[in-house]
Amino acid sequence: MQKIVAMAALSLLVLACQTTPSNPANRQVMDPHSHARPAQAIMTHLDLAMAVDFRAKAIIGTASITFDCHDADSIFLDSDGLIIHSITVDDKPVDWLHGEANELLGRGICIVPSEPVTGTYVADIHYASAPDATALQWLRPEQTNGKTQPFLFTQSQAILARTWIPCQDGPGVRFTYHASVKVPSGLMAVMSATNPTTIAEDGVYEFDMRQPIPSYLMALAVGDLAFQSTGPRTGVYAEPAILKKSAWEFAETEAMIQAAEALYGPYAWDQYDLLVLPASFPFGGMENPRLTFLTPTVITGDRSLVSLIAHELAHSWSGNLVTNATWNDFWLNEGFTVYFEHRIMAAVYGEDYANMLRALSHAGLVDEVNEMMVKHPEDSKLDIALEGRNPDDAMTAIAYDKGFHFLLLVEEAVGKETFDAFLTTYFQDHQFKSMTTDRFIAYLKDQLLDAATWEQIRGEEWVYGTGLPDNCPVLPPLRFEAVDLALDGFLSEGSLMPQDQWTTHEWLRFLDQLGNKGANLSQVTALDGMYHLTASSNAEIQAAWFALAIPLQYRGDGFQTVVEQFLTSVGRRKFLTPTYKAMLEAGDQDWAMTIYQAARPGYHAVATQTMDDLLGFKPAS
Ligand SMILES: [Zn+2]
Repeated sequence: MQKIVAMAALSLLVLACQTTPSNPANRQVMDPHSHARPAQAIMTHLDLAMAVDFRAKAIIGTASITFDCHDADSIFLDSDGLIIHSITVDDKPVDWLHGEANELLGRGICIVPSEPVTGTYVADIHYASAPDATALQWLRPEQTNGKTQPFLFTQSQAILARTWIPCQDGPGVRFTYHASVKVPSGLMAVMSATNPTTIAEDGVYEFDMRQPIPSYLMALAVGDLAFQSTGPRTGVYAEPAILKKSAWEFAETEAMIQAAEALYGPYAWDQYDLLVLPASFPFGGMENPRLTFLTPTVITGDRSLVSLIAHELAHSWSGNLVTNATWNDFWLNEGFTVYFEHRIMAAVYGEDYANMLRALSHAGLVDEVNEMMVKHPEDSKLDIALEGRNPDDAMTAIAYDKGFHFLLLVEEAVGKETFDAFLTTYFQDHQFKSMTTDRFIAYLKDQLLDAATWEQIRGEEWVYGTGLPDNCPVLPPLRFEAVDLALDGFLSEGSLMPQDQWTTHEWLRFLDQLGNKGANLSQVTALDGMYHLTASSNAEIQAAWFALAIPLQYRGDGFQTVVEQFLTSVGRRKFLTPTYKAMLEAGDQDWAMTIYQAARPGYHAVATQTMDDLLGFKPAS
């Protein structure tokens, strides 16, 4: 414990901060990844006034937080690495304490009001973020497309919001927000809120998010950005150099929103824009409300990776509207979103297209479950236990693809129409609320599945058991039959494939199956000669190609240079993991480490945490 304000009654304060909530009726589930005690005091609104300082790599400002209190003698917040200058109430200092530093959870903040509070309480926290705040990535101009201006973006999920904003940082707490953000002139700031469409001369921007959101959806980006509208409620933000092609790639977003609304009811967030980030962004997309953050690696020039937009858009219902109560319930966000994504893709691009996505999801799931059952079988449960662990550990095929296949099974049991009606009501009944696995299963049994059906689909085993039950639904993917035939022809006779008509997904199927069937070095050499996979400009295909070719010791003309360029320019974890893994598999630890040491400073912390573990890299402390 670190005493900050007045000397008076330190021991009393410590005691006050350690007592259990005085109100035993929790308004929220206790979250193992947050210090908040919402039964006593829950955050309902955030007013941010902040300045973005690129030179100091800091966000400096004041967070005015409104709490709804129930006899609260202490009010808890999360923080991690924040430098707290003072905490005031009505401009007067208030007593507060900083908890002990915890590597995973950061340091809790305990505000101690002069007397127990019931009702509204507003505290102003004057603070700055640390230069190494893990949510923030500060990019030098040369790391951007335009090369002339710096760039900042945030990634708050899962528990990183606390590294740039003091808040109750758990998905079960929701609040509205307003922000006033000052940035260097010539740059635009955008947030998960109402956004500007032009650069403000004075560098000051105002933002409003009127719908209550959890902290992991707090998001900010600052850079040389421009906006292009793509429809009545859709648009794209990107650096000017890539704005036009980004807007072309995502021109069908409005059609996706209409398909989504026809399935599960109105879009609740008014505007839906996309922000294309520099390539170091560690994820494919992040569903920040009103403004999805995106990797530029989905811009392929042929719209063949727009299923990612369908995914992020679907989160506007599953995740952002009805939210997993804790990270143990992550599959409620992601499994539903994969299901919804495929339904949007089927509506806009046809069932055949969606079936390809489904087959890829199934293949990835089987691979990952097999691996997991050897190493960490407990992690293959939908209802995962993450206490004491990084919630990022749940970001596996289990939450996404096992969750999705469980919902498919339910859909098959009751019929699509009945399931759609159920989901529409589910989203309506629980909008702007959070959901636990147990409450969802109770709701499912109450509203949709009788005991016999639950038994018949083996629901208990699916949700609370390990592994992949053998009643997992599998559909023959029609468009992949032609790919599989072409693969047989290639393997037996070295014949050419009709790849001119292939989408990215067909290539991914081909490369995946080729790996499964045990390709050899001369076959991959021939393949690269015919189809120039090393030179592909499609990052999905490149990463799948590297994962296949590297372990076979393929080192064709310029291959290693391309791999190195890829790993030093792209920071998306989905691609980094299999590529570095392939190098380890090839026994080429030195090659992996040489590239990693050069590339690491350009990766976001979310990616370096995973890669440090994978490669056994120990950063100098
Ligand atoms: Zn998602």
